[in-house]
Amino acid sequence: MHRENRTGVTFDAASSCVKCGTCQAVCPVFGARAVESSGARGKMALIEAVSQTLIQETGHYREYLETCLLCGACDEACPSNVPTLDIMLRAREKMASGVGMKTGKSLILNHLLGAAKTFNLAVRTGRTLQGLMFRRVPASSGLRRRFPLPLIAGDRTVPKLARHFFTDRFHGLVMKGDGPRVGIFAGCMTNYFYPEMGEGMIGLVAATGASVAVPGKQVCCGMPALTGGARGTVRDLAVQNLGVFEKYELDCIVTGCATCGGNLKDNYGPLLKEAGIPEDRIDGFVSKILDINEFLFQAGPAVQVHGEKVQGAQALKVTYHHPCHLGRLQEVRDEPIALIESMAGVQLVPMEEADRCCGMGGSFSIEHYDISKEVNDRKVKNIVASGAQAVVTSCPACILHIRDGLIRNGHGEIEVLHVTDLISARLGNQRSTFKVQGLRFNGVKQVIGKAGST
Ligand code: SF4
Ligand code: SF4
Ligand code: SF4
Repeated sequence: MHRENRTGVTFDAASSCVKCGTCQAVCPVFGARAVESSGARGKMALIEAVSQTLIQETGHYREYLETCLLCGACDEACPSNVPTLDIMLRAREKMASGVGMKTGKSLILNHLLGAAKTFNLAVRTGRTLQGLMFRRVPASSGLRRRFPLPLIAGDRTVPKLARHFFTDRFHGLVMKGDGPRVGIFAGCMTNYFYPEMGEGMIGLVAATGASVAVPGKQVCCGMPALTGGARGTVRDLAVQNLGVFEKYELDCIVTGCATCGGNLKDNYGPLLKEAGIPEDRIDGFVSKILDINEFLFQAGPAVQVHGEKVQGAQALKVTYHHPCHLGRLQEVRDEPIALIESMAGVQLVPMEEADRCCGMGGSFSIEHYDISKEVNDRKVKNIVASGAQAVVTSCPACILHIRDGLIRNGHGEIEVLHVTDLISARLGNQRSTFKVQGLRFNGVKQVIGKAGST
């Protein structure tokens, strides 16, 4: 399930906002800043004024529109069903072709991201230079900059670019099974920073009896370009991804990135249509997209860790953070909870505001790290108050940001895991069995069966 597709929304739909203010209460940015322009109501008023040519699009207007996590909480809460998220995206597109983007951003979104070879070369160069520019943060695997660098705050902990990128190590048909043919859409975070997550995903999907393919020439899903207003770039990327995945004749395409999944499910249809791709080809791609939680939930016993349910001191206490782009945008909330609850040796403990944004919001956390940190601090407080030893989620971007918040707030001992990390470690099919507070968690009876229904 994912939210109703509202591709027909135009930015002048902002006038349907009745200015009731309900959205302010749920907006993480308004919660941090309490300035009218930071919430959806203020943004709707500004967009409406632009659509009626009462004001011009200026640099200030751009700044107001970009001060938003695109978390969708306002959209969900609005009693008048104003499609705020889509309106803000349309307004950003209009703005990009009007007042334009900042030069650096335009260079990245309009030129670098869409040129796969150049983009890859840029990331590889970053990997070579990261030892010079960053230092390791003690007691964690994160990095902090050594000297002032653009885009990266001095107190921000970032992950290391992986020694071997995921699609460099795994490409083509990587596992042969007698079940369905499943493709893995890695996404940039998994590919460049967390290849072990992708590796875990291959193991879990293969455990269901499926054949697993990783199309090696897959490219970024294009979400940064879409949120930045560079629609042409994301359209080109959508066409490239369609082409490389089609070659494998897949039954489904699975991703472990909430943001990629939301983009592929919701936006690729209209983008591919704009590019002139026939309906049957579009449907053959978009209808096959599943988040890894949906896939594993459907796979049933094949990937569940069976054994005695333990509580209290013997159990690993985990809490779950609902990524906005999975819980809210794709309405995938029950599946990760059911998967975690079914695991022996794991106790799921509740967290306040589990579905409130962590503050990442892609480039928002780079351009507005001060606000992003405040939003993140609230998430960290809730995690700590839950008493969990580990926080589990389903989005590599959330993992990056929550880990940064925990380290900055002196709680680096709380582990941050993807659902697939947790299941993989419990099944013992991941090389790096994870540790929490010095304890190895791999002592549970492991059962890997064959899936019946994927
Ligand atoms: S909740 Fe909806 S109608 Fe009310 S101010 Fe926000 S966007 Fe406007
Ligand atoms: S999308 Fe999120 S951050 Fe942006 S205005 Fe709505 S609630 Fe606030
Ligand atoms: S990083 Fe995670 S919590 Fe934050 S906006 Fe993205 S999906 Fe939502």
